[in-house]
Parts: sequence; structure tokens; C-alpha cells
Amino acid sequence: MTVSHILGYPRIGAQRELKKATEAYWKGECTRSELENTGRELRLRHWQAQHHDVGLDFVSVGDFAFYDQVLNVSVALGAVPARFNANNEVAGGDIDLDTTFRMARGRAPSGEPAAACEMTKYFDTNYHYLVPELHEGQTFTLASNRLFDEVDEALRAGFTPKVTLTGPLTWLWLGKTKGGDFDRLTLLDSVLDVYGEILARLATQGIEWVQLDEPALVQDLPLAWQQAYERAYHRLQSAPLKLLLATYFGGLGDNLSLATRLPVAGLHIDAVRAPQQVESVIDRLGPHQVLSVGFVDGRNIWRADLAALRERLLPLKVRLGQRLWLAPSCSLLHVPVDLAQETELGDELISWLAFARQKLDEVVTLARLIDNRATPADEQRLDQATRALDARRESTRIHQAEVSERLAAVRPADSQRRAPYGVRSEAQRRALKLPLFPTTTIGSFPQTDAIRAARRAFKAGELALADYEARMQVEIAYAVERQQALGIDVPVHGEAERNDMVEYFGEQLEGFAFTRFGWVQSYGSRCVKPPVIFGDVSRPAPMTVRWSEYAQTLTDKPMKGMLTGPVTILQWSFVRDDQPRETTCRQIALALRDEVLDLEKAGINIIQIDEPALREGLPLRQDEWQSYLDWAVESFQLSAAGVANTTQIHTHMCYSEFNDIIGAIAALDADVITIETSRSDMHLLDAFQDFAYPNEIGPGVYDIHTPNIPEVSWMVDLMEKALEKIPVERLWVNPDCGLKTRGWTEVEPALANMVEAAKVLRQRY
Ligand code: GLN
Ligand code: ZN
Repeated sequence: MTVSHILGYPRIGAQRELKKATEAYWKGECTRSELENTGRELRLRHWQAQHHDVGLDFVSVGDFAFYDQVLNVSVALGAVPARFNANNEVAGGDIDLDTTFRMARGRAPSGEPAAACEMTKYFDTNYHYLVPELHEGQTFTLASNRLFDEVDEALRAGFTPKVTLTGPLTWLWLGKTKGGDFDRLTLLDSVLDVYGEILARLATQGIEWVQLDEPALVQDLPLAWQQAYERAYHRLQSAPLKLLLATYFGGLGDNLSLATRLPVAGLHIDAVRAPQQVESVIDRLGPHQVLSVGFVDGRNIWRADLAALRERLLPLKVRLGQRLWLAPSCSLLHVPVDLAQETELGDELISWLAFARQKLDEVVTLARLIDNRATPADEQRLDQATRALDARRESTRIHQAEVSERLAAVRPADSQRRAPYGVRSEAQRRALKLPLFPTTTIGSFPQTDAIRAARRAFKAGELALADYEARMQVEIAYAVERQQALGIDVPVHGEAERNDMVEYFGEQLEGFAFTRFGWVQSYGSRCVKPPVIFGDVSRPAPMTVRWSEYAQTLTDKPMKGMLTGPVTILQWSFVRDDQPRETTCRQIALALRDEVLDLEKAGINIIQIDEPALREGLPLRQDEWQSYLDWAVESFQLSAAGVANTTQIHTHMCYSEFNDIIGAIAALDADVITIETSRSDMHLLDAFQDFAYPNEIGPGVYDIHTPNIPEVSWMVDLMEKALEKIPVERLWVNPDCGLKTRGWTEVEPALANMVEAAKVLRQRY
């Protein structure tokens, strides 16, 4: 029989129970044991879904975390930075939960606050993990029994667990050196000691299989790391249980023979991102090794084509027999929990989708189909999938002839501005008459309680559209008036009317749908509900024009229009899988191009197109970067390039590192780019200087993540550093990012100082 399993399940709960419980615990509104109870209930419910409801061969244990599964491993290894004063002697050898929370967020109901660990995106997902802090000479000891307790819990409830853990090399790979650079691999032996101990303990609990997640194997690895894989897994093979080495998010590429050489009982590969690797892996597999293939997409929400997958799998079944296992491509952490809750998407769209719970059914049904033991329910599921997918291919809701015709008619000239930057900058100087060191902001102003309350009331039907819009106008007028009083040279309308920078546009574009409960964990208790791009994208009507137009009536200064860029909209959505991502991106770009031109027509002469997610779209393998950057850059240009020379296009990026993509940034050919730099002490500008970046730059002069009011002299000093790298006539003065998370009491004095800093600079230059 074909074994069916999963690499991990979303822990947040169908109703975001875990979010609510952890936040209540942090606020002191529920006790530690109530929180632990919620954790237990969720684990039990998810194991029941996996085993009783569906019939997977294993339930997944180790995928649960109150904050982050990578952090759990750090805690298990005792890798707790000294500033957290982990008191595990007292707690019976265990690092306690509050220490884990303090590492994640700096504070917890007990224990002294300390600076939280850094958090960053897990590979190319929108899930954030806590970065392990590594010190030279650090040693590790087993410091948590949580995993073993959860295994006991599953066993007592009668389940057969497979344990999942971040593998030792991926854990080190995700870690950062602190207190001086050194080779992280020097820590491997001590890390392996603890992994050895963990595996031995799990074996005594009766665990047969442990899945070690090693997605680092789908990236470009230095030779030393490839060799370390051999060393590590040769050591771990003495563990008295079986190891399943799990790789996902891409193909093994040049690590393929390495991965298939490792002495493990089984290997999991991603057959969604890298379907072509399946046969070559099988060719190299040892005679007793298990191969788990992930043909069901763990990163997206589309229903699997069971009939096509059965055909694809049958020959693999012939070759591998019992050694073939089936699973989703990666942990289901990255998709929403249960489609059954979506009552308002419409039957048609619902029939095209599968969330985590539905993907369990897909895996089990596939296993039974290729084993020739399909139940009537499986046959029915197969049939429904085929019919739904046929309907999807034909659906008029998806395919709009005008959209594909327009895309086909795009000419290279459409993505080029009319004149080169030098000519444009002259035209803009004459038209806009801005001073040296022009001041501006990144777009959003405080999203106050009043704004949120009005939006809630409007969505609940308690506030009429006209009243809601009138309230937003009041907020816009206030933001413009404040900027006027502060003396900001290029004001914005403040984005009061926007709930979220992607959702706001998605709601007004054709081809987008919004779920009610499609939450996915982003970090800790934070979840996001990405829009679903299911069809051809078009813009039935202007989206932002009347707001910007209204704001412009309130001031003589040039009002900056604000749009979210095509790559960012793509990157923060679930994207259709029936055409290349780049095609969808270009469709969004054309819709935005119409908006840009309508803004221009309405008298808005400065338009910012935000692309904060451009960098995070980079593929995991460097040899795929260029082709991504080519279409990403072209999409941005397509949205921007239709305007006159006198219209100034801005873009904005944050959390970025620019060195390795500076050529692409320059190719965007935005007249002005604003970036987050204040915390880098302007070092981020080195990349622009070295590249001789030709256009204007607004390096952020203060960090908007803290409530602190930046001092004038501090901002002047930062700009002086910028002046060492960028000529004076090309510099702007602005904050690092939007101000929506701040209050007016912080924003006003901060911006007043910023404007003052610009004045000081103007006197000097
Ligand atoms: N214009 C957006 C804002 O100011 C940009 C946000 C972002 O960069 N993430 O809020
Ligand atoms: Zn930003």
C-alpha cells in the first residue's frame, strides 16, 4: 500500500484559535495552562483530521509551535542568547515558554524584556522564522522536552506519529553569526550531538520515522556545506530509527546526487516546483530507500488534477512499489486551513480550490487510486476534480479576450519612457519647481481608531457608502492640511481609505477574489489573508483617482498619487497556476498603467508605484534570478512608462538589500526611488554609488518602526553621509517607510524635524 502523509499542518486553527489564545495570554487575559490547553486541543483536532477523518498513515508531530517551529528547535538545542537569562535549571531542565516568547517578541508575561531575535522570511515564503543566533565556540545541550511530550500526547490518543524537525544543516544555514564572523559549520558537531540525543529519545518512545526538513538543499550550497551534509547524515544514521530527509520549494539541482547519496531511509522531493526531477531522483535512489513525492501543491490553493496525477504516478508506482509515498509538496503551513468555511466565494470558484484540509483528502485519494483500492468516495472525488478542472479551463470568468489581446499587442516601446532620464529630469525640474532636498513621505499617514471604526461600520453595513467616503475625505483633508502646515514639498493624501496596500487594489480589479477565513500564518500570531488571483486581470474603473484629485484641490503643492506595483500585488496573493506568473504580472501591470494615465489626466504629476516585494520574489536559485528580474522590471515599466516626460514616477522599497539587484533597480528607470536606509547608516547607498545609479534617491532618514522622535542633527548627519555618495541635486528627504502604524503625536514632531533638517541642508548647499 502506498503510504500517504503530510510534512506539516497549519497550527493556527480554522478560526485562528491559536492567535486568539496566544494574544490573550500575552495580555494577561488567560493563564498559561489555558494557553497550553488550546495548544493541546488544536493538536488533537488536527491529528484527528489527518487520521480519523482522512486516513493518513501518520499524523504529523513537531509541526506545532506557539510561535515558530525554527525557534522551537533553537530552544530545544539550548541556543538561547544570554540576554534572555534562560532559567532552565529552575524549570527542570526545560527552557520555559515565556523565554521562548521573549526571544520572539522581546517580552512575555514573565521574565525581563530584552531585544527580540531577528525575524526573516523562510526561504521564498511569506512565513517568518526567528533567526538562530550563533556564537563562535557555542555548544548545545538538549533544553526542552516539549517535543517528547507532544509525541506522548499523540501516542496516548492512539495515533501513529511521524516526527518532523528542521534538519541540523538547514537550522545552521538559517542562523546568523553574532559577535564576529566565523564559519557556522564549526558548530555542527555540537548541534549533531543534540540531534543524536533527540533521535535516541524519540526511538525509545517508539517512533519509527523522523522527518528532517532540509530545504537548504534546494539552494546553491558552497562545497563545504555539501560536504557537511555527508558528514552530518553519516553521523545521524546510527540513530535507532528511520530518517526521512525532506526537501521542498524547488528542485535539488546540483545537490541531487548529494541528496540521493545520503544514508537516510527516505527522501521527500517537491514535484510541484520541480516535476522534472522525479525520474532522475528515482534513477539514483538506493534499493531500499523510500521516495516521498509531493505532487499536491502545498504552496497554493488550487485543486489538484487527480486524474492527471494518477496517470503521472502509476509508472512511478510500478518502479517503486511499496517504496513510493505520497505527500503535499511541502508543509501545509503555507495554505489556509479549511475551504468548508468559505460560504461566500460562489460554488464555481470553490470547486476550483483546495485548502489544507482538502489537500489531505487529495493525498489519500491519490494513494488509493494508484493502489487500485479506491472507494466510491474516491471515485467521486476524482470525478469532481476532473469536472471542476475542465470547467475551470473553459470558464468565461477566467478568460477575457480583451485582456489577452491587449497583452499580445504590447510593444517594447510601451515599457520605455518617451525620453531618457536626463531629458525628463530637466522637464520635471521646470514643471515642478521643487527646492533642493525636496521633502516627502512614503504614502500612508496614521490609520487612526476613527478610520478603522468607520471602515468596520461600513463593511458591517452600518455606515452608508456616501457617509464612509465623506469620513475618508475628512481624514484626507486633515492629512493634507497637516503636511501643508509642516511645509512638506510633495504631500500625499495619506491612504486613509486603504485597508491594505494589496487588498485595496484587488477589491477593485477583475480576476481577484477574497476569502473570509483564508488566513495563513505570517509570523507568531500574525496571519495574512492573501487575495486569490483566479482570472485575467483588468480594471473596470479608476481606483484611486477621485481621492488624489480631491487631495490636490486642497493644496498648491504637487500631490503625489499612490499605487501598489504589479510585482508586489502578485507576490502577496495566491496566484493562478494555469498560466506563467509573469503573464499574470503583466496583466496587473496593464491595469495599473490605465490608473497611472488616469491620474496624470486628472492633474496628478507625481505618481509613486510601490514595489516593496520586488526583492522577495527572487528565485531560490541564482541562475533563475535574471529571467525573474527581466519580467519583474518589465512589468513595473509597463505600468509606469505611458506618462509624459514632465510626470515624475516614484517607486519605494523597504527591507531591501540592493547590491546584487542594483542593475534591475536602475532598469526600473523610476525618476525617484525612496528606500529604507536609516538603520543602515546610509551604507545601503554604497550599491547605488558603485553602480553610478543615475536617477534621484530618497534615502530614509528615520526609522518609522519606533515611536522615538528623530533629532534634526541626526537626520542632517545622515544626509551628509548620503551626500558623500550621491550628488546633491539628486537627493530627497523622507522617512524610511509609510506612517500608518504610528500616531499623529509621533508623526508631527518627527516630520517637523525632518523638514527642519532639509532647511539646514539647503543653507549648506
Ligand atoms: N505606500 C505604502 C505606505 O506608505 C508603502 C508601504 C510599504 O512600503 N510596505 O504605507
Ligand atoms: Zn516601505
